[in-house]
Amino acid sequence: MQHLLDGLNEQQREAVMHINGPLMIVAGAGSGKTKVLTTRIAYLLSKGVDAFNILALTFTNKAAAEMKERIEKMLGNNEARNLYIGTFHSVFARILRAEVHRIGYPSSFTIYDSDDSRSVLKTVINELNLDDKLYKPNVVHSRISQAKNALMSPAEYAMDHHIQQEDMRSNRPAIAQIYQGYVARCFKNGAMDFDDLLVKMHELLKNFPEVLHKFQHKFKYIMIDEYQDTNAVQYEITKLLAAAHENICVVGDDAQSIYSFRGATIENILQFQKDYDDVRVVKLEQNYRCTQSILKVANEVIKKNIGQIPKELWTENESGEKIKLVRTMTDNDEGRFVADIIQEQKLRNHYYNRDFAILYRTNAQSRSFEESLRRMGIAYKIYGGLSFYQRKEVKDFIAYLRVVANTRDEEALKRIINYPVRGIGKTTIDRAIVTANENNVTLWEVLERAQEAGFKAGTLESIKGFVYMIKSFQTMLQTHNAYDVAVLIGKNTTLVKELFNDKTVEGLARYENVQELLNSIKEWTESPSNAEGEVGEKTLGVYLQQITLLTDADNDKEDSDVVKLMTIHAAKGLEFPVVFVGGVEETIFPSGMSINTREELEEERRLFYVAVTRAKHRLWLTFANARYRFGNLVQNEPSRFLEEMPEEFVDRSYAGGGARNQGGMGAGVERMQRSFGSTTAQAEKMYGPPPSKKKDAAPARPSYMPAQPPASKVVEHKPSANFEPSDTSNLQ
Ligand code: ATP
Ligand code: MG
Repeated sequence: MQHLLDGLNEQQREAVMHINGPLMIVAGAGSGKTKVLTTRIAYLLSKGVDAFNILALTFTNKAAAEMKERIEKMLGNNEARNLYIGTFHSVFARILRAEVHRIGYPSSFTIYDSDDSRSVLKTVINELNLDDKLYKPNVVHSRISQAKNALMSPAEYAMDHHIQQEDMRSNRPAIAQIYQGYVARCFKNGAMDFDDLLVKMHELLKNFPEVLHKFQHKFKYIMIDEYQDTNAVQYEITKLLAAAHENICVVGDDAQSIYSFRGATIENILQFQKDYDDVRVVKLEQNYRCTQSILKVANEVIKKNIGQIPKELWTENESGEKIKLVRTMTDNDEGRFVADIIQEQKLRNHYYNRDFAILYRTNAQSRSFEESLRRMGIAYKIYGGLSFYQRKEVKDFIAYLRVVANTRDEEALKRIINYPVRGIGKTTIDRAIVTANENNVTLWEVLERAQEAGFKAGTLESIKGFVYMIKSFQTMLQTHNAYDVAVLIGKNTTLVKELFNDKTVEGLARYENVQELLNSIKEWTESPSNAEGEVGEKTLGVYLQQITLLTDADNDKEDSDVVKLMTIHAAKGLEFPVVFVGGVEETIFPSGMSINTREELEEERRLFYVAVTRAKHRLWLTFANARYRFGNLVQNEPSRFLEEMPEEFVDRSYAGGGARNQGGMGAGVERMQRSFGSTTAQAEKMYGPPPSKKKDAAPARPSYMPAQPPASKVVEHKPSANFEPSDTSNLQ
């Protein structure tokens, strides 16, 4: 199998060939960590290791799919489809389906996305008579999530002195109580949130020796990519699984640890060497991704971090262009500038749309880029916004499927019980829920035995009809596939017809979305393998799990020629020929919420390092003099990270001289002058006529832009307006 090793450097080869015993690869960005992991799996298979005995945990399902494809190419067979490969969440969800009955969940348990979780929390908060203005479901959810990822049960949470003090200080002493209610409610609903997929997996391994034994012997070889971003529960699970064979290979870069807000800790990298005897450590130092200029800038900036394993990446790649710093007047100008450059670069350097990525610190920043791209007719896609499966009409339809798969799922049941309207009003539903709670049964059970609950005759009829309908779907599912059942649901509920009859533009879009959903179910039921690539049971439960755990990046079709917009968090592990990083300003990047301690600032700097090292050939960093945030016009200084970049690799000619030098004459500055009355010919040429002074006026339209924005080829999503690190949708 020599050809597998062809082209690898010596250290990469060493890592691929070390197959027995613990192995840690710590290496900088673009040094081939993921490539080594992929090759190592192919190598194991070529040495006769059974694919069924290999577990590989990746950062996205897309990365897993890509790895599998490459392995198949390397080996010329399709053994790779038998690998257990995917994100922590998707792989464990799959295992849980088979094992979770031991702890009282149905094997068709529902997976709650963050929306569902918040809705359950809201119910719990209201039932406890707490104020949901104070106990904001978002805030409470993130506390609970932290606790779960630290493997802290509600009881332990309530007993932890430090945590209790913290909750008291934030004036929310009842979080422990909510946590307990939330856990009970999810269990009753036969549902798990994302964190539960890890927590319950751990619980099974910890409390059921036969389960532990089974999987320890199944997974003889374990590999984990992006190990620097694993948290306590992920660490514990992999430690348990690897204990029997100790053939565990972890791959990571301490300089790219960017998920500490979700409980990830670099400590896991340091701890690894203590957990096992004889850990082989391999360092990779040659970068194959970036130009010299890009790499030099990345190296130099990350050196400012004190808590970093020192390493110096080098590359044989060409020196490339300098990194371009760009100052613009406003965020709208920033958007226009980037769209202009994309247009220009496509012509000048023959790039396609798909060669460009626009990265930003927070989702809300996507708006100005989106507007300009749309206006210029450049196809783009935003990753991490509202995903297809979170749109209302799609969720409503899916809720039917969820109830059919798992009648305990109260959230789904509440969504559809009176949708489309069938005469089961809010009072009835509330009453049914109270009855369910009082008798400690599920909402579904109350509905099933509605005649005992004393509803009015008309209501009773409606409920009976509803229950009968759901049961008929369930019966059909025993002999038909998920797609057939979905079609029947569309028909019998009159859902599709109602949407079809709505002839407004929005109505049409909703109808198309539901059709698209049906198409995707069809495609899934007919394809030989599911998204994880393995031939598995095509149950409705598996379908639902798969769509819930899908991240936007997983939806990406390789052939779609679009500019990609995403947060830096979501760009981890990816690479693009040309990268723009927007909003490189104080209070945005570094985030205003992360400059209070050195640890926080260092995490922001690592994020900057991740952003810069996504670029293969060209990199533009942009910042605006002023932008609207939270409805106010704010002026930010250029980011401190810009000052940390070595001058010789940076072209500041668009930035008005030095990063903090307000006196230069870059395009942005000229534009600033123009706004104050002195228009310049060059700015006119670049941006078209000056905008109206009105605050909310539409941005100016340069002559080459069409009057009507052409429809984007790709369905785009509304950016969310929050400024939290909004990447939690991207599951590990
Ligand atoms: P990140 O830290 O961003 O996750 P990484 O260390 O995982 O990066 P890869 O994505 O595996 O790096 O590799 C970066 C690029 O370098 C890829 O395009 C890969 O194909 C290429 N590459 C890696 N090793 C070699 C090699 N020995 N020869 C040629 N190209 C290589
Ligand atoms: Mg990688």
